[in-house]
Amino acid sequence: MSAADQLGHIFNRCRRAAKTAGRKADAVTLVAVSKTFEAQAIRPVIEAGQRVFGENRVQEAQGKWPALREAFPDLELHLIGPLQSNKAGEAVALFDVIETVDREKIAAALAREIDKQGRTPRLLVQVNTGSEPQKAGVEPTETAAFVRRCQEVHGLAIEGLMCIPPFDENPGPHFALLRKLAGELGLATLSMGMSADFETAIELGATHVRVGSAIFGSR
Ligand SMILES: *Cc1c(COP(=O)(O)O)cnc(C)c1O
Repeated sequence: MSAADQLGHIFNRCRRAAKTAGRKADAVTLVAVSKTFEAQAIRPVIEAGQRVFGENRVQEAQGKWPALREAFPDLELHLIGPLQSNKAGEAVALFDVIETVDREKIAAALAREIDKQGRTPRLLVQVNTGSEPQKAGVEPTETAAFVRRCQEVHGLAIEGLMCIPPFDENPGPHFALLRKLAGELGLATLSMGMSADFETAIELGATHVRVGSAIFGSR
């Protein structure tokens, strides 16, 4: 099946999962994760109607998205991979949503660039729900304090939280934890769930699911 056909299939599964969970069918935004795929593989998926995409590297995204954006001005691009502070300017210029705010230095760099460029991407804080040493994200116990510092010290509007559960664990408890943390902070956006577990994430309140290989094929 082509990526465009897979897209339709995944889109329907998202709507069905939302309805099954007693949520509105359109309560969940499907973020198509196009990392490692070239513009020519992405274009048919855009032409099939998909408008929201995720990339995990600033430099890779810069190589393929400016031309696609010119052809399709209503695209929405999410940064879902780690951000270095020296790339904050490029990230603010290119992305509509940055999902991986996870330390003070990045918050400060983003605030500076938003001020300088007059362009304000929507921002999510990444939470390391499994407290994995090699993984990005703030610790669950430090999330509230970090979000408050982003808001009060750096003047950033934080819209929600994002997580990537440990690869080898049942994701459900991680999604539930993310929802609980967001609820306590009054944040409305929850980016959680990937190809293998997006329906579970939707059941547990995801507003955004990030699906790559189930649409584009294996990387
Ligand atoms: C690659 C990636 C995804 C998509 O993963 P699939 O398993 O291919 O759906 C989602 N979120 C992040 C942060 C990623 O890096």
